[in-house]
Amino acid sequence: MEKVKGFKVLDISELMPAEGFVSMSKVAWMERGTRLFGEDKMKWRFVCPACGNIAAVEDFRKYKDNGAEPDKATCNCIGRFDGEHGHVVMGTAKPCNYTGYGLFNLCPVMVIDGDKEIRSFAFDEERG
Ligand SMILES: [Zn+2]
Repeated sequence: MEKVKGFKVLDISELMPAEGFVSMSKVAWMERGTRLFGEDKMKWRFVCPACGNIAAVEDFRKYKDNGAEPDKATCNCIGRFDGEHGHVVMGTAKPCNYTGYGLFNLCPVMVIDGDKEIRSFAFDEERG
């Protein structure tokens, strides 16, 4: 890979989840989240697979004006919305600007909801 001055070169294999990718039904995913964090989904915490930052759904509320809807917490690093880290290329610092909807899918969880497949970050506790 060509080195560009001022940019850290990422090896994409280093970013892949060590535990591999898993898929689960939405029902199983909801049960797992509820068991870990309780019924209040605002308290659910997710791990950015690129930088390892942990954010709760409720953390996204304060960046609402930047487009941070609560449901974005499952698949976006909070750095995209906090007004300070939007320039931080995925995984080069914490938090970063990673989104699971971009070119690189690092989301370790695929939630199956009927015929829909929804990419998700891992829950905080699953990271170990
Ligand atoms: Zn991140």
